[in-house]
Amino acid sequence: MKITDFSRIYYETNIKDFPRGKFLLNKYKDTPKFKIDSHNNIPELRAYENKDFVKLKKYLIIGIRKTHKYVVNHKISDFLVPFTSSGCSAMCQYCYLVCNYNKCSYLRVFVNKEEIINNLIKNSMKHDKNTVYEIGSNSDLLLENLVTEDLKENLEYFFNNSKNGILTFPTKFKFIEPILNIKNINRLIPRVSLNPQEIITHFEFGTSNLDERLNAINDLCHVGYKPYILIAPIIITNEYKKYYKDLINKMSDMLSKKAKKNITFELIFMTYSYIHDKINSEAFPKSIKLYSKDLMTSRGIGKYHYRSNIKEEATNFILDELKKNFSNYTIKYIV
Ligand code: SF4
Repeated sequence: MKITDFSRIYYETNIKDFPRGKFLLNKYKDTPKFKIDSHNNIPELRAYENKDFVKLKKYLIIGIRKTHKYVVNHKISDFLVPFTSSGCSAMCQYCYLVCNYNKCSYLRVFVNKEEIINNLIKNSMKHDKNTVYEIGSNSDLLLENLVTEDLKENLEYFFNNSKNGILTFPTKFKFIEPILNIKNINRLIPRVSLNPQEIITHFEFGTSNLDERLNAINDLCHVGYKPYILIAPIIITNEYKKYYKDLINKMSDMLSKKAKKNITFELIFMTYSYIHDKINSEAFPKSIKLYSKDLMTSRGIGKYHYRSNIKEEATNFILDELKKNFSNYTIKYIV
């Protein structure tokens, strides 16, 4: 079964007025459908229990994006942009989207993409040509593209209609084919997120495996991209040193010469929450627990992150391993 084999579709009725809506209704004509008033509030789905999380992830929601507010960001981009989807069909057990949407973090696709991209064009015209827009902070665009099949067209529409602006998005998927032959690759920074295969197997259900992600980086570099590599989220287990050492060795072995030239890394430690813990323990009762009171401390009500001494030790370990394996790289940030 493919990650985009949806068991149900919930849709706002006026999506029929949009080309993307028509395309999706036709593409999924055999999937059971239910009408909704708003993608933001589907009472029937909110009433599901935490243990139904996996079932909810098999639903696709189609609606019209109403929020277009850009958030200033100083980490990797200048602005976080609400783009053409939110939520995701994969089930990473620490996924930040669960904080926003709780168990309803299923994939929602927005049909008013012309409005969304035209807003981005308008905004970019007001700013410097190197302004960076993060368009994937709410979803994984390569996964969305398996559904909508229009990522290439959307990116090219932006690049052809605005001379300003660099776009970036992170991904945990191998489905890079649609961005391999777009014209303005110098204005797109794909950021591929890596983790040891053991972490992917235990906690990143539905995503591409490590070898596939490394091959994707090589293919991107082959056509001229300079993708960033996220080691994220770093998860501390009893065996984490072995796992991350193996990961970095594997990156060194598998990445092409081109890919190893001037790599930009982002290192992100996992943050977790009471909500994640509740959902994971009810939806995946056999899974290894990600919360550890010995390793973590709270940051705000019901939010956890690794204790500073634990994080510092892990940071030094990973930086040492990177130093041993790579000669030419930049660490963009560590959080
Ligand atoms: S792939 Fe990304 S967006 Fe999807 S569940 Fe995993 S962390 Fe969340």
